[in-house]
Amino acid sequence: MKQKYKKPSFKDYKPQQMMLLPPSLEELIAENHPVRIVNYIMDSLDIQSLLEKYPGGGAPSYNPRLMLKVWIYGYLRNVYSSRKLEEAICQNIHFMWLSAMQEPDHNTLNRFRSGHLKGVLKEVFGHVVEHLVEGGYVSLKEVYVDGTKIEANANRYTFVWGKSIETNKVKIKKQLQELWEYAQSVAKEELQTNQPESFEEINAEKVNQVINRIDSALQGKNICKKKRQKLNYAKKNWPKNLEKYEHQQEILNGRNSYSKTDKDATFMRMKEDHMGNGQLKPAYNLQLATCKQFILNYTIEQTTTDTTTLIHHLDEFENLYGQYPEVVTADAGYGSEENYEHLENNEIEAFVKYNYFHKEQTKKWKENPYRQDNLYYNSEKDCFFCPMGQKMKNMGKISRRTSTGYKQTYTLYQAQNCQGCPLRGACHKQKSNRIIEVNHKLRKHKAKARELLMSEKGMEKRSQRPADVEATFGIIKQNKGFRRFILRGSENVEVETGLIAIAHNIAKMCA
Ligand code: SF4
Repeated sequence: MKQKYKKPSFKDYKPQQMMLLPPSLEELIAENHPVRIVNYIMDSLDIQSLLEKYPGGGAPSYNPRLMLKVWIYGYLRNVYSSRKLEEAICQNIHFMWLSAMQEPDHNTLNRFRSGHLKGVLKEVFGHVVEHLVEGGYVSLKEVYVDGTKIEANANRYTFVWGKSIETNKVKIKKQLQELWEYAQSVAKEELQTNQPESFEEINAEKVNQVINRIDSALQGKNICKKKRQKLNYAKKNWPKNLEKYEHQQEILNGRNSYSKTDKDATFMRMKEDHMGNGQLKPAYNLQLATCKQFILNYTIEQTTTDTTTLIHHLDEFENLYGQYPEVVTADAGYGSEENYEHLENNEIEAFVKYNYFHKEQTKKWKENPYRQDNLYYNSEKDCFFCPMGQKMKNMGKISRRTSTGYKQTYTLYQAQNCQGCPLRGACHKQKSNRIIEVNHKLRKHKAKARELLMSEKGMEKRSQRPADVEATFGIIKQNKGFRRFILRGSENVEVETGLIAIAHNIAKMCA
């Protein structure tokens, strides 16, 4: 039987239809939408320091609260560029509602981010965290600290290396010495007075003077063509290059490298290659202190290792909230004598691992009688006993300074006679009787850390650490796709970090 044709019906669709009573934006935004939370929190904050950044006079500016709100909501919605934010403000009802239909352009938005927010955003961030503490979301007492490297907005192929500067300076010193010796062999009389003592310390001025002296001494002499060319080259380039090296070393300020397009960015080995190959890229070391995945503090560091960053990070925490955290949990990258001492001095309970903490727990490590850590120490007599039972006497102390200038003291202990010992091959490879260097202070700190880490609370902290701070890095880098800074310079990078940290905290609060 032939089926009867049914005509399809459609709902009315007239995009151009005018409305008698059009809905307001207020009605279109859900009551518990994150944009309302951003609005509410930002309205309740004290932004006096931001207001003080406006000089007054001239045409009225956009309200700083409006600008702050749209940037924070932008970072919450993974909008990191000023042009994309400008577009969102004109097209997205949530942004339109937040900006009260005002439309700052991308230049204005960018000027606000990299101008007005510089130096004041950390305080705003602190107020947001205090708000979270009052609301019972987090506590400032217990934190998990870790670091991650985030790529800088800088060219990977234009860099300055501290080591090449040193190598080039050594080359100049050597060649200058050679030129000087040659000039002396040809024009000894002319160069007899005011002879420079050494070329160990050179600078542009000194090199310039020496070259001029050599040049005037060699005037009218029959010298080899190659030496004349070398002298001309030196005159033209060496003082100029040395000036450049001095300037570069000032920028380096103790670092190994920097990128020419963002001089604050340091080349760091990144972990992100899926084949496990690290790549050197200009980056910043972002340090976070978290609690329940909320960010309580952030600092931007220019060093590749985490060890030297902890004290600055904790001091910043104290600056922000007027107190140190009571408990800090961190991985082995932070377990240094200087850090342990700082934690102890500020009465912070430290669940901080040290190098070899995990290896120490292995059977192989524990059963190795030759390891320094396994040698018996008699504290009363201040001596060690080697695996053969020989007394290792205190031979005095030596000191070393770390890269931060912290002084470490080591006590030397030496075995009395290793000659003919049947264990010698397995025990040590030194030519004389075995000497060990013992840092008693560090040993004490490690013993305390070990006890804490092996306790029930320590086990709990150790298992919670990756789920807290490392997961926060995962959210920022993977979920929010924030893997590269947009702005250049450490101050701007800090502003970006502040925005992402505030946005992250509000997003967590909404969740
Ligand atoms: S080699 Fe020297 S230090 Fe090592 S066990 Fe023998 S005596 Fe002791």
